[in-house]
Amino acid sequence: MSVLALAGGVGGAKLANGLAAILPPGDLTIAVNTGDDFTHLGLTICPDIDSVTYALAGRNDVQRGWGVADESWSFMDALRTLGGEDWFNLGDRDLATHVLRTNLLRTASLSAVTADLAARLGIQQAIVPMSDDPVRSIIVTDRGDLAFQDYFVRYQCSPRFHAIRFEGAEQARPAAAILAAFDDPSLEAVILCPSNPILSIAPILSVPGIRERIVARSIPCIALSPFIAGQAIKGPAAKIMAELGLPITPATIAQQYEGLIDGLVIDSADGDGLRDHGPAILATDILMRDPADQQRLAQQLLSFARRLRPTGS
Ligand code: GDP
Ligand code: CA
Repeated sequence: MSVLALAGGVGGAKLANGLAAILPPGDLTIAVNTGDDFTHLGLTICPDIDSVTYALAGRNDVQRGWGVADESWSFMDALRTLGGEDWFNLGDRDLATHVLRTNLLRTASLSAVTADLAARLGIQQAIVPMSDDPVRSIIVTDRGDLAFQDYFVRYQCSPRFHAIRFEGAEQARPAAAILAAFDDPSLEAVILCPSNPILSIAPILSVPGIRERIVARSIPCIALSPFIAGQAIKGPAAKIMAELGLPITPATIAQQYEGLIDGLVIDSADGDGLRDHGPAILATDILMRDPADQQRLAQQLLSFARRLRPTGS
């Protein structure tokens, strides 16, 4: 039985890593947000694909929370000395990924290049961009429309969030491996990782056909909440929800995924506050401190999904 997980970067990678540890490698497809992708200093940078890839390869930096472990910064130092644009940090090891990807993309699709880079790092699971067509997240703020990395990194999410739009989404097609995952009769669940619902999962769902296929397949779709006790574990999810006038609760997550999810995994610290017709709820410890937590949660999610599966399907 196979699983399709939708993931952004660091938060998504934690659960994806747990799923990778408990499922046979051929049974997991991870569809990753590419709305954050951009071209910087001539390089094609795919931050969320890299976060997932580094995590599954066991090369992610756990302390810093992003990028590669044992990183060095000679390139940034030299760039600064030369007066180059230095607002986006590129570690020396990380840089090798971007240079290689950019070069490989001259003759291959992002799907093929992503699979190639993952294989070079010994990863057996399918890490797949949401689309091979460019989709770019644009953040509408009180300081105007901002390219995703300007909002996220250059301005550290300080502008007030009004809305997000996904440039190119209308013309984009889901990556072939995502369509294949949906067509696989052995697909037993779709998992929405605890990634930022607005910045990371919404762009994936903006690719025409992905949401429709999740709804069309009569298999459970389960989300893991990114909130514990009124706070996001990391990143701007809580700030953005507050700026949209939404409470930082499981009910808000259920509302973001209305019509899509059958089950929601929340923290035991949270009263769910959900209406009767909301998704089924599993309350547990949802903080992933280490690989053991990641695997425990992945296992709990899959058991939950199996319990939700309609009999006979
Ligand atoms: P990014 O693309 O690197 O910003 O990361 P994602 O969008 O994939 O993930 C960010 C979200 O992950 C944040 O909203 C966090 O609250 C959530 N998150 C991070 N760590 C954990 C964790 O250990 N447990 C849960 N449930 N959520 C987490
Ligand atoms: Ca991201």
